[in-house]
Amino acid sequence: MKTVICTVAAFALLSALPAVAGPAAVAPAATPFHVGKLSLASISDARFEMPNDGKVFGVDAGPAAVADVLKAAHAPTDPIVLSVDALLVRDGARVVLIDTGLGPKAGGALMASLKLAGITPDQVTDVLITHVHPDHIGGLLDAGGQPAFPKARVRMSSADWTFLQGQADMAAMVKAIAPQVSAFEPGAQVTPSITAVAIPGHTPGHVGYQIVSGKDRLFDIGDTAHSSIISLAKPDWTMGFDGDAAAARTSRRATLTELAGDHERVFAPHFPYPGVGTIAASGDGFVWQPAKLTAAPAGKKKHKP
Ligand SMILES: [Zn+2]
Repeated sequence: MKTVICTVAAFALLSALPAVAGPAAVAPAATPFHVGKLSLASISDARFEMPNDGKVFGVDAGPAAVADVLKAAHAPTDPIVLSVDALLVRDGARVVLIDTGLGPKAGGALMASLKLAGITPDQVTDVLITHVHPDHIGGLLDAGGQPAFPKARVRMSSADWTFLQGQADMAAMVKAIAPQVSAFEPGAQVTPSITAVAIPGHTPGHVGYQIVSGKDRLFDIGDTAHSSIISLAKPDWTMGFDGDAAAARTSRRATLTELAGDHERVFAPHFPYPGVGTIAASGDGFVWQPAKLTAAPAGKKKHKP
C-alpha cells in the first residue's frame, strides 16, 4: 500500500453509525498467526445483523440487486451479517491493539478474547484506531466508563480526533481518553513495524495500518470494505456508513485494486471471523479468499508479550 493524500470532505453532519439491527453477542475467540517474525491474533468482539433494506449496502442499487449479489455467492440474502473484530500485534516489546470493538456496554467480547490470547489490559502499550466509529472505539472504555487500557497510548489520525471531539454525544469518551491520545498525520510510522495509511472517505481521517516484518506484510483495511461479498463484488456501490460516499468509493476501488495486484494479506475487521485473507480481482470487482487459520483453544494462555 502507498500513502495517499487525504482530502478534506464534508463530514459535518456525520455523527455515529446509522442505526442498525444488532449487535449480537459472540463467543470469545482469538486466532493466532504470524507476519514475518511478528505474532498476531484476530480478536473477536461481536456481530452485526443488518436488514437488507437498501439503507446501508447498495444504497443506490436497492435490496433486490444486493440480494442477487449475495445469492451468487451462495450467502443468505437477509439479514446481512458482519463480524466486528480487532487485531492484536506483538511488535517487539510493544503490545499493540488495532481497534477495540463495541465495548462492554454493548456486550462486546473483546476483553475475554484478549484473555484467550494471553493478554491482560494493562499489558497493552499502544491502541491504534482506524477511525472513530463506535464499533472501533467503544472498547476504549470499561463498563464503568474508565480507560480500558490504562497504560496504553491511544493513536488515531488528527482529523478523526478532531471529528470525535466535535460530537456532543461522545463528550464522556473524549474526556476519559484525552490524556492517552496521541494523534498523528497519516503516513506516520506508529510503532516499529506499523505505518498508518490514509484511506479517505469513510470518516474524515480514516486510516489503514500497514504491518511489515522482513519481506512479509499485512494490511488492516479498517472500514474500506464492510461485506466480504457485497463490498468486493460491487465496490462502486454507495455504502450508507461512508461519510463521504464519493471519496470512499474511490478509495475502496483503489485500495482493493492495489491489494489484489500485490496479493498482499489483509485483515478486515468486518469480514467473517477471523477476517484474514487475500483479495483477488474478479470481473469488474473482487472476491475474498479467506486464509485457513485455527482459533486458539479456549482457556489456553500462552505467550507473554
Ligand atoms: Zn466499522
